[in-house]
Amino acid sequence: MSEMINKEPAAENPEKFTGIRLGPFKESAGGLPAVLSSFKHIVAEAGWVRGLKALARVNQKDGFDCPGCAWPDPDDERSGIAEYCENGAKAVAEEATLKSIGADFFANNSVPELARLSDYEIGKKGRITAPMYLKAGGQNYEPISWEAAFQKIACSLNELQSPDEAIFYTSGRTSNEAAFLYQLFVRHFGTNNLPDCSNMCHESSGVALGESLGIGKGSVTLKDFDHAEVIIILGQNPGTNHPRMLTSLQKAKKNGAVIVSINPLPESGLIGFNHPQQLKGLLGLGTTLSDIFLPVKINSDMPLLQAIALLLFEEDEKAPGKVLDPVFIRENTDGFEAYKKHIQKKKLADLAHLAGIHDDAIRELVQLIRYKKKIIACWAMGLTQHKNAVDTIKEIVNILLLKGSIGIKGGGTCPVRGHSNVQGDRTMGIYEKPSRGLLQAIRREFHFDPPQEPGFDVVDSIKAMHGGSAKIFIALGGNFLSATPDTGFTAAALRKCRLTVHISTKLNRSHLVHGNEALILPCLGRSDRDQVMGTDQFVSCENSMGVVQLSKGSLAPVSDQLLSEPLIVARLAKAVLGERSKINWDKFMDDYDHIRNAIEKTIPGFDNYNQRVRQPGGFYLPNCNREGQFETQSRKAIFNIARYQPVILDEGELIMMTIRSHDQFNTTIYGLDDRYRGVYNERRVIFMNPVDMKIRHLENGDIVDLYNHHDGVERVARQFIVVPYAIPETCVATYFPETNVLVPITSVAEKSNTPASKTVVIKVEKKS
Ligand code: SF4
Repeated sequence: MSEMINKEPAAENPEKFTGIRLGPFKESAGGLPAVLSSFKHIVAEAGWVRGLKALARVNQKDGFDCPGCAWPDPDDERSGIAEYCENGAKAVAEEATLKSIGADFFANNSVPELARLSDYEIGKKGRITAPMYLKAGGQNYEPISWEAAFQKIACSLNELQSPDEAIFYTSGRTSNEAAFLYQLFVRHFGTNNLPDCSNMCHESSGVALGESLGIGKGSVTLKDFDHAEVIIILGQNPGTNHPRMLTSLQKAKKNGAVIVSINPLPESGLIGFNHPQQLKGLLGLGTTLSDIFLPVKINSDMPLLQAIALLLFEEDEKAPGKVLDPVFIRENTDGFEAYKKHIQKKKLADLAHLAGIHDDAIRELVQLIRYKKKIIACWAMGLTQHKNAVDTIKEIVNILLLKGSIGIKGGGTCPVRGHSNVQGDRTMGIYEKPSRGLLQAIRREFHFDPPQEPGFDVVDSIKAMHGGSAKIFIALGGNFLSATPDTGFTAAALRKCRLTVHISTKLNRSHLVHGNEALILPCLGRSDRDQVMGTDQFVSCENSMGVVQLSKGSLAPVSDQLLSEPLIVARLAKAVLGERSKINWDKFMDDYDHIRNAIEKTIPGFDNYNQRVRQPGGFYLPNCNREGQFETQSRKAIFNIARYQPVILDEGELIMMTIRSHDQFNTTIYGLDDRYRGVYNERRVIFMNPVDMKIRHLENGDIVDLYNHHDGVERVARQFIVVPYAIPETCVATYFPETNVLVPITSVAEKSNTPASKTVVIKVEKKS
């Protein structure tokens, strides 16, 4: 790679095809193919010995937390064979890889050259082994000592006119310990500019649940799945994104639960599951999961949920007291009568039409659930990344409130989080709008005045960098550029910064689309052994159901130059704050128990943290909803009234949603296959209904460009292969990050400011 390139490094994946092969859609997830795929990835990256050693420790009570999703581990017995799924194995393989890149690699590969690779190719280069620095105008990262790197960041931050000119991003991989120190340092520095990946995923859930129920977290535990009578799964693809959830669904099904799935696409993991640790599963004779599948149009969940509520009211009139829970509603909720009036004014036919579901199918669903009370509702990005996401999630809550399903065994809310510690980071105070309680606790314990003004979330951070009011960007993990919307706009924002800093395990595109100067600080991964002065340390994480447990890696790090995230943050804080800070950062570096002691004093729910986190399996954080309490102003759960505003399409327009492939976790691309959907060796595809193809004179395999106009800006994503698919008419799906370029920065969810990556209006143009 010696060719010199003068133009700016590419912000997007190259518009080149990798050789598509199409196969059949899989009617069930898991099974032998999942086992084979797990081993293929782990052996290719880490080899048999290191790979199997890592897998043996993942999600075990004395092991390390899977760096994949936030699905919880069983409280009691864990499988001695494998307490992980195929995608967990892939995540571990990426981290445990023996491939590494250091000074020589960066000397031989310039930034513009690397940027011409796809995200998949970039990610496969291996672990970064040393701190690297890109000087102003430079083309190649060069080695830098840790001390010089910290001093460079300190000088740049301390030269700012205001602390609010710096952005401090956090990804969901960050441990509780690192996240706590990070927010403490950032607030001591003087800003609340603490955007995180939660701003892009479950922020809408946090807002909706907080306003309706008084806590922005889900209420169920894993055990509730064993007792549930009904499990409704909306806008979620657990087979790829939370595969161990299928084990819970299988068990629930065996216990008699009805499973309802509501999603624009049929997904293998929603249809059936072959448990890879059971003979029947390995033979492909597993369990049918969904009793009913409603292929709702993109962003039409709200009218569907309102239709369900309307029919529940109808059923309750036929059998008063048997369908709704009048005692729960009377004693625990506000706003029932107004909500009932609002829903009863609607017509089933209208709601069904808006949802794109036949009213008979909605009636069938209501017949299945009308006398059930133990109902769990699960959802993910398919609900949270729309303009009306907050109101849609509140509509789910409305149904659970009608049925009295919250605060009971076998019922409740279950927003299924993406990255493994995204929930814990928020608990630790990674939030641009800190509560008054947190700020008071920081003042009390650390004797400085933290800033009161809200900071920037992700979207506002991008706008601030683009507008020039933010000048330094620091990321504790993640691949900000590929995770965020409006790729061209975000790239321009990062390029305007004076300095961009990434604390990372592996190379990603955000290192290649950089500020005037840039730093990469390599850190330990979850699976790596973390020792301070010869003593083993561990960190802790909170899963999607509020369980905090320890995470202790045991693999030899690929380089002795790697530092743990808590150490990097503490050293950064010392370098930046200097004499200004009276906090003993050295103590935190000596032993992470001191960090946990500080957390215990500052964050509610962490009493005896050091003792309880050492209990096998950890401990549950308090959750008022679980106790049947609602910490809203009125101390009651609130029925919400929402008015649905459908997206009106002009002629030729389609609604696009971005999705992940099966060989992908968030922005990390493990491979080029999407096995369950039958797409192999290609990511530049657009899934389209055959009727929409016919209208546009498109054939299977045709090439199209995708484009839209928003706020007077034309956005284009070029070169996508049309794949006919069972998706509702006028709806299409594409993989992110390839089509993030089409998501306008101004298109966000009301109240949560989450990018509306699943309601993107586009047109397609056939390439000749
Ligand atoms: S379900 Fe999620 S947390 Fe569990 S092993 Fe799979 S990716 Fe990891």
